[in-house]
Amino acid sequence: MQSLRRSLATHGARSFARGGAGAPAPVAFFPPAASTLLNHRRGKSTEALADDLVKACDDLLAAGKRINWIFLGAPGVGKGTYATRISKLMKIPHISAGDLVRDEIKRGTARGAEMEAITSTGQLLPDSVILDILKDRVQRGIENGERGFLLDGFPRTAAQAAALKEFAEVQQVLNLGLREDILVEKCCARRLCKECGKNFNIADINYPGDPPIVMPPLNPPKECEHKMEQRKDDTEEVVKARLKVYKDNAKPVEDFYEKEGKLAEFQIVSGIPETMPVLLTKIIGIVKASK
Ligand SMILES: [Zn+2]
Repeated sequence: MQSLRRSLATHGARSFARGGAGAPAPVAFFPPAASTLLNHRRGKSTEALADDLVKACDDLLAAGKRINWIFLGAPGVGKGTYATRISKLMKIPHISAGDLVRDEIKRGTARGAEMEAITSTGQLLPDSVILDILKDRVQRGIENGERGFLLDGFPRTAAQAAALKEFAEVQQVLNLGLREDILVEKCCARRLCKECGKNFNIADINYPGDPPIVMPPLNPPKECEHKMEQRKDDTEEVVKARLKVYKDNAKPVEDFYEKEGKLAEFQIVSGIPETMPVLLTKIIGIVKASK
C-alpha cells in the first residue's frame, strides 16, 4: 500500500488526501534471471553502477555542489519507483508533493487541517499551499545537512517551476518517457488485491522494434489470484483523458527546464531490473558532467 500511496503524487492534489483513485501502477518486474543476463551482457552490474553513482555524487558534493534533481513523467511510467531507488543511491531524500501533503494532514497541524478541508470537498490545493510546505521541507533539509533532494511529482506547471526556482536551484531534470499506447495498456492492466491491497499488472508487453519493448506482467501470487479488482477509473477512456491532462501541463514544465539547459530525456523500454543499469549509466554521466 505504501508504494500505492507514494505513487499518488503523480496526480492532482485532490487525490492526495483521498487516496486510491487514479494511482499509477508499478512497472512490471523482470525475472531476476533475465535481468542478470542482460546486465552481464552490458558489462557493469547494477551493483557496480550503484557504487559508481555514490562516488560521482560524493565528488559533486566535495566540489561544493548540491544534488537537487527532479523526475518528471506521466502517470503509469513508474516514476515513483525509480525515484525511490535512485534517491537511496544518491543519498538524497525522495520528496513527493503528495507525501508532503498527506504528512501535513496526518500531523494535524493548522495548515494540515486547512488542506484537509480543501481536499475533502474535492478541490485542488492552490499552488501557494503546496509551495509553502515544499519550501519548508527543503529548508529543513538544508538545516539538517541533507545533500539535496529528488523531487517527484512536482512541479506540475510552469508557474510552479518558476516559483520553485525562487527558493531552490534545481540542477537537473530527468523526464521519464514511455510510449503512450503502452502507458495506456499498462494503466488498464492494473489490478489490486481486494484482500491484501497489493498492486499487480497483468499487461504482458512485448513489442518488436528497435529497441524491442519488453515489459513482462507482474502477476499476483496464488493466494491473491482470485481476489483481483480493477479500479473504476482505469478504463481506456479515463486513462487517455488523464494522460492528456498530464501532457498539457507537462509540456510547459519541460520547456521551462529545456530553456535552462537542465532537461534530459530517458525512454523506458523494459521492466525495472533491466532499466536500472541503463538509467544508472545515464545518471552517472550527468552527475559527472555537472561537476
Ligand atoms: Zn492479496
